[in-house]
Amino acid sequence: MSYLRNVKRVAPYTPGEQPRGERIIKLNTNECPYPPSPKVTEALRGIQAGELALYPDPEATELKEALSSVYGLPKEQIFVGVGSDEVLGFVFQTFFGGGDPILFPSLTYSFYPVWAGLYAIPFREIPLREGFRIAPEDYAVQNAGIIFPNPNAPTGVLEPLSVIRRILEENPDSLVVIDEAYIDFADDRKACSALSLLPEYENLLVVQTFSKSRALAGMRIGMAFGHEEAIRALSDVKYSFNSYTLSRAAIRCGAAAVLDEEYLAETLKKVIRTREEAKKRLAALGCTFPDSRANFLFARPPRGNAEEIFAALKEKGIYVRYFKGSLTEEYLRITIGTPEQMEALYQALTE
Ligand code: PMP
Repeated sequence: MSYLRNVKRVAPYTPGEQPRGERIIKLNTNECPYPPSPKVTEALRGIQAGELALYPDPEATELKEALSSVYGLPKEQIFVGVGSDEVLGFVFQTFFGGGDPILFPSLTYSFYPVWAGLYAIPFREIPLREGFRIAPEDYAVQNAGIIFPNPNAPTGVLEPLSVIRRILEENPDSLVVIDEAYIDFADDRKACSALSLLPEYENLLVVQTFSKSRALAGMRIGMAFGHEEAIRALSDVKYSFNSYTLSRAAIRCGAAAVLDEEYLAETLKKVIRTREEAKKRLAALGCTFPDSRANFLFARPPRGNAEEIFAALKEKGIYVRYFKGSLTEEYLRITIGTPEQMEALYQALTE
């Protein structure tokens, strides 16, 4: 097949398994163990099949207006996409590249090097310090952009805003992207989010998602908040690729979910309570882990035999995530499920 000579060679991201079966306990892809807001059910029921004959609003106005009212930012500072993965893909394509490497931590979301590969963007991985911490001074080197999740994945470690502030100040000519996929699970999410820094720093972009705290991983909605000009640049790239990224259903359901703040608060309370309990129970089983502020724990079993335990749990129908590689091979990333699912996990681990 000689046409293969022209194929773009890439090393793709490996998504977590999506096993089928009713008895599976799925703690492997950081989804929410609870359903989305009942307002989402209503929104879905309200969609008439006939509407689907028409393209959706390319501006996703209804969703942006809902986000605008809840987050207190004008529509012009909001970009939406098909999950934060698509938003992040657009971010890499729009802002990164141009000679100098972009910077991200050596242990982080494993999609970053994949997008860098896809768009031929040079990158440099900055080792984390003791306790999986980010040291701002490590990012004071020539770069074409900086990106990291806060809380970080897969560690769950949350950096204080003072760290983000220092990185922003030392890199006034770089875009600094804070991937806040898990920020809602930080106990005081409003105080912990870099959104509060947006009025002060035009080089800051904050990316969030509906997939975790709002239980809409299957609907695929993500967003970015930033300076008006950065948002316009992202939008221009989007319109050069696919005008209609979000479906009618995603726009409608996303708006319904974001407006139900009370339901979000209830979900967060439940997940955070279960996470804190999980810390006690896993510690009692001899596991060690950084102090996660996300909806997962990065836990090292007492003998570091994570791969073996991963396989044994899977045998029992309990799926957690295991990443090969020198920094991660002794750890399991365990998503926080319902209290019942977690009990099944503790039981299986004890056995
Ligand atoms: N950022 C981080 C750090 C993640 O862990 C994930 C989930 N895999 C995402 C972004 C993407 O999530 P989504 O595309 O579902 O919004």
